[in-house]
Order: sequence, then structure tokens, then C-alpha cells
Amino acid sequence: MKVYKIAVLPGDGIGTEITNEALKVLKTVESHLSDVRFELESFDAGAERFLRSGVTMPEDTFDHCKDADAILMGAIGLPEARHPDGREVNGDVIFRLRFDLDLFAGVRPVKLYEGVLSPLRDVSQGIDYVIVRENIEGLYASRTGGCNVRGEVATDTIIMTKTGIEKISRYAFRLAEKRKGRISDGASMVTCVDKANVLSSYAYFRKIYDTVGDQFPHIGRDYVYVDAMTLYQVMNPQMFDVVVAENMFADIISDLSSATVGGLGMAPSGDIGDRHALFQPAHGTAPSIAGKNIANPYAMILSLSMMLDWLGDKHADKSLIAAGQGMEQAVKRVLANGGAKTADIGGKNSTSDVGNAVVDSLIHSVSEWAK
Ligand code: ATP
Repeated sequence: MKVYKIAVLPGDGIGTEITNEALKVLKTVESHLSDVRFELESFDAGAERFLRSGVTMPEDTFDHCKDADAILMGAIGLPEARHPDGREVNGDVIFRLRFDLDLFAGVRPVKLYEGVLSPLRDVSQGIDYVIVRENIEGLYASRTGGCNVRGEVATDTIIMTKTGIEKISRYAFRLAEKRKGRISDGASMVTCVDKANVLSSYAYFRKIYDTVGDQFPHIGRDYVYVDAMTLYQVMNPQMFDVVVAENMFADIISDLSSATVGGLGMAPSGDIGDRHALFQPAHGTAPSIAGKNIANPYAMILSLSMMLDWLGDKHADKSLIAAGQGMEQAVKRVLANGGAKTADIGGKNSTSDVGNAVVDSLIHSVSEWAK
């Protein structure tokens, strides 16, 4: 029996609702795998906790996350929960975990599922690429460390290290090796997104990306400036396979990419390091729709599927990898067959309807993923 310890941080707003649905799906997987058990422990961390107690994440919660095999997070933050300098408190959790657990790779799959409408005019070929975000350097590494003089001048500094760029570039090239290539022509490709024509920090990013790329001669390389990137994401997303970019740029382009595949409710993510990993939807806590059972849990369920894939890969556990794939297939089937959809993707179903539909689909296909 393999036991996996999962630290669960449901968080605030819609975070708790979508986490409930993901846990339903996870328990369904567990009940059909005879050799796997998930030890789930839930922790109260987030903006509500901060408002109540002044602490966003207690130290022992961080320690539990560090000890866990993986972390599953709903969403954290509320607009009113802020530090005196105006920063929202969600960074106390997500940046703390990313930086202190060395979760250097922010992995954001961008996939259009049949049955979900894209605002783009021609998506007959589909959309399927992955943004790999450098997660712990770049401009956000300057967070809390910038200068503010007399309240009239503020600065932040972009941080690029050789080690950091090498790690994220290698991650991107290895991911391209595992994928089937870009939609337009099947070519395996890593696109470097930067602003190397203006800032020397981005020119350095590109230079190191190239030295890593030399070690992967079978994977193509492409360079796009971030401003042009936003245009290509809308006009020709089929040209991408794997995209790698600095922290803030990748943050911005991944929100745009999610809009092209149905919105934030369809955008899963993983924050992955060599030893630890955290999985959460790319969206925030959407306070305006919280507590109504109308939030879209697909991004959360797809993040859970990424978690199983990562755990399976790390522990050479084929049944987990199969279950992760089975979960994604279950989502695919529900959407393609006109099954449960929440309002943000044009449906009328509730959050729990979607969770139940994915559970049913998983149970129906159990012979495909639980062998
Ligand atoms: P953050 O600053 O943490 O990214 P935010 O409030 O700016 O938070 P989100 O919480 O991601 O951004 O929400 C932006 C909008 O997207 C919400 O108002 C909501 O309409 C929509 N949204 C986000 N996630 C979902 C979801 N899972 N289901 C339905 N709508 C969502």
C-alpha cells in the first residue's frame, strides 16, 4: 500500500467550494485503487484567518506543507485583507511556499476542451500549449524588498540568476520532450518570451535559455517579445508547444491564455520544484461569486489531475499516473457530451453538479484507469 500525504489548503472565497469538489473526485480515485491511500490533512490558512487573527499562515502549517508529498490549494486572498503597505496577504502563503519550498516552475497548461466556447474566431485546430513560468525570481522576487523614498518614489528590482534561468529552461525543454509537439505542425518547440530588445536582464534570460537549448538539439527554439506574444496568443495560439518566461511576464500571459480557453475557471496550474509541489487553479478567490455554489471547479479538478501525474512520476507509481489521466479524460467526456457546465462557460449547473458529473464519469470509465 502506498500512502501519500496531501496538505490541503482550501483558502478563501470560492476556494473552499472548489476544493470540496476536488476532494470528492480524489476520494473516488482512492476508492478504486487498491494499492493507494491519500492521507488528507486540511489547514486553515488565508485572508479570513488573517482578518481574524493577524496571521495568514501559521508556522506549523508551513511545516506540514513541507512534510507533505504534495500540496493542494483552493484559492487565497480577499481584497480587504491587506498589509499596511497595501499588498494583499495571499503572498504570505503562495509566495512563502513558492520561495521557501523552491517551487521554481509554474506550469500552466492552456487547453481548449471540446464543449467549451473560445472567444477566438477560428479554433478548429484546437488550442493546446503549456506556459512554464519562472516562479521565484524575476520582478516578483523584489516583493517587499524595493525602495520607497518619502512615499514619492518607489522601485523594484528584477532578479535573474544563471541557476534559476537554467533550471526553468531545462524544465521547459524536458516538458517539450514529453509532449507531442505544437498543434500547427507537430514540431516540438520551446518559445522564449522576453523583452530582450530593451532590458539586459531579459537579454541574459534569453542567452542562458539558448545555452540550455543547445543541450536539446532535437527541440526547436523560438523567440517572441512579450508584447507580440499577446498578439500571437489571440491570432495564432497553435504556434506554441511549450512557452518559457520570467515570473511577471508569465503571470500576465497566462491570464490571457486562460481567456482563450474559456476563462480562469478552465485554467489549472502546478507550482513544481525538485522535491515539493503545489497544485491550484490559476484563478483567485472570486469573492463576488463565493458562497453561491456557482464557481467553476474544472480548473481545480484539472490541477488535481496534474498532482496525480506529478506524484506518479516522482514515485514511479503507474496507477497514479493512470488515475490522473483518467481524471482528465473524465473531464473531457463530461464537457464534450454536453454535461455539467457552470455559468462562466455558458452552462446552468452548480459547482457541485460539475463535481458529481466528473465523479460519475470516472466511475463509468473505471476499467480504463484503475487496473
Ligand atoms: P486574484 O487577484 O487573486 O487573481 P481576482 O479577484 O483578481 O483575484 P479572480 O478571483 O481570479 O481574480 O476572479 C476574477 C473573475 O474571474 C471573478 O470575478 C470571476 O468572475 C471569474 N472567475 C475566476 N475564477 C472563477 C471560477 N472558478 N468560476 C467562475 N468564475 C471565476
